[in-house]
Amino acid sequence: MEINEYKDLLLAKEKELSTAMEYDGTGARGLDADAAHETVDHSVDDDIKGVLFTEGNLQWKVLEQVREALGRIEHGTYGRCVVDGGLIEKKRLKAIPWTRYCLKHEQQEEVGDPPPPTL
Ligand SMILES: [Zn+2]
Repeated sequence: MEINEYKDLLLAKEKELSTAMEYDGTGARGLDADAAHETVDHSVDDDIKGVLFTEGNLQWKVLEQVREALGRIEHGTYGRCVVDGGLIEKKRLKAIPWTRYCLKHEQQEEVGDPPPPTL
């Protein structure tokens, strides 16, 4: 795939997520307004907001990664692992165009091990 094709995929994903976030944001603002008038049951409100925050947080995380990837396209560093600068597998980029890591480092991220220091 050409870099412009990845860019198109990323821009489409960014639009999709932005739209979804807008929808979620409206819901969250509604909750805040309710909470302002509600003096009891604060713990319940907090629980509900906690759930919304967690779900929205995941989308934020991807959106952030999509925007970072678009930035890397601008800077000519797209398709390289942010840990070791190695080329990310084409298959991975096709599946997750906003990925920051090569397969090796992605697996390390998933199990929670910090990446080795780059010397
Ligand atoms: Zn890597």
